[in-house]
Formats: sequence, structure tokens, C-alpha cells
Amino acid sequence: MRIGIDLGGTSVKAALCEEDGTLLAKQSTPTRTGDAAGLCADMKLLALALCGERGIAPNQVSSIGIGVPGSFDKETCTLKFGTNLGMNNVCFAEAFQPEFSCTVQLDNDANCAALGEATAGAAKDARNMLMVTLGTGVGGGIIIDGKLYTGCNGIAGEMGHIVIQRDGEPCNCGRKGCLEAYASAAAFVKFAERALAEGRESLLSKNAGHLDAKMICDAVDAGDMLARVLFDEYCENLSNGLASYINIFQPECVVLGGGLAGYGEKLLEPLRRLTIPQTFRSDKRNTEIVCASLGNDAGLIGAAML
Ligand SMILES: [Zn+2]
Repeated sequence: MRIGIDLGGTSVKAALCEEDGTLLAKQSTPTRTGDAAGLCADMKLLALALCGERGIAPNQVSSIGIGVPGSFDKETCTLKFGTNLGMNNVCFAEAFQPEFSCTVQLDNDANCAALGEATAGAAKDARNMLMVTLGTGVGGGIIIDGKLYTGCNGIAGEMGHIVIQRDGEPCNCGRKGCLEAYASAAAFVKFAERALAEGRESLLSKNAGHLDAKMICDAVDAGDMLARVLFDEYCENLSNGLASYINIFQPECVVLGGGLAGYGEKLLEPLRRLTIPQTFRSDKRNTEIVCASLGNDAGLIGAAML
């Protein structure tokens, strides 16, 4: 048995999983932000409650994994900067003792989601896969030969920070022209707001100043010309990034997650059409581009599988 914990700014979710990632039970509690001792106590209580619910002794748990938002040190199992949690330098290595004697693993929430989708979701059975999350930023994770690839500093998988346009849009990382500055949901909205500010006519005008990505997708569905142009540009930019990943990694599968992946086949069809011609391919087997299938459970299952 394994336990996965998803540490979020508003809630702490925990799941009990079998060794193959099958999810057996879930529980959650509000996050005590700014209270590290309280948070550790809550995590242990959740783990104990899950064991109680399924009649499992804590010593039957072989691994506990935590997906954290922010920077961390894998070796010491320490959250270094947890801005959303209001706490820094929190070591989780002994947070579950004495009841649980297994090791505690840590990774970021995007890497956990990638591992979850590779274990039990859209890329189940794929040995090599990439996850690209299209949310506030563009994040993701890299799975090579069934294992999470984390690099020499444990922080690999920053999919959003490849430059697709030299001297392009400013990115949150300090560089210019990163994929994130074009393909995040926030960037999609930024371009729409900019077009409206320039006086372009659109159904979106009535929501100017407080647009979200879903409103733009809905406007595409309603036949809005500006929304269609913005969406086509979005897909072209994203396809440049996806094609580069595919050419480097040749994964069996690229899984798209995050809010925009909710647009499903309507996003996948243009992306496949634009991405595949830019890639090196084989006659036999090529990379599939699909949407995530586990939703919020991906992070929980992935954390359990760390
Ligand atoms: Zn960047």
C-alpha cells in the first residue's frame, strides 16, 4: 500500500493506493497555511484516517509521497520555499513517525501529475511520456523508461521555458519568448484582452477586463471571429513547443493537462494537425497527443508512486 498527498494552498488531499497505483480511498482537509507543525500533524491524521477507513495497519504502508507547490530539496525531503503555503524550510522526513516507518518522498505537483497519468491515466503503460499542463503557467513532467526524470538538481521538467520566439513576450521566469508566455491559459487571456483593448470587435467585449480561457473557447464555439483567430494562434504556438519536445524525446505519448485540456478534442485536432508535420516520425509508431484523464487524482496517484 502507498499513500500520496497533494499539498495545495487551500486543501491537503491524501489517497491510499495499491502498489500499481489503483486508488482505494481519498480524504482531504483545509490547509493550515503558515503553520508547519499543524500541517504535518494534519497530514499524519489524514494518512491514519485512510488506513483506518480501509482496515490497514500503518506498517503495511510501503511509501508516502508528497506533491508540493514550490521549490524543494528531494534528498532531505524539505520544502524550501512554499509561497502558497506560507511556510519555508519545512522537513517532512519524520512527519509521519512513529506510526509510519516508511520513507517519505517529495516532488513538485506537476511532476506528480505526470507520474500519475503515466501510472493509471491517459498514458497508462507508456514507458516514455511527457505531460504538459496548460494552466496559469505551462508546466509538466518527463517520464523516461517508466520513471520520473528530475535532472541533477531534482527540478527538471520545466516544459514552459523553452524559447519559441527570440525577444518575444516577457515570461515570468525573466526570459523573453518562452512557450509559457504564449501557451499558458494566462497568456491566452492576455492576448484576448490586448486585442479587445485595441478595439477589435468580438462577443468577448462584454467581459473585457475579466476574461478567462473558457470564455474564449466558448466564443470560438459560438463562431466569434476574434476568438477563432486567437485560438488558431494559440494552437500554432503550442504546436511549436510540442513538436520540439517530440523531436527531443520521441515519447509514446504527450499528455495535455490543466484547464485548457478541458477543451478536449477541439484542442487536440488542430494541435495534432499542426504538430505532427514538424516532427521526425517512423513508419511504425509515432507519438500520440492526448488529454489527461485523471483530473485532480493524477497528482495524488503520482505522489503515491514517487
Ligand atoms: Zn520562461
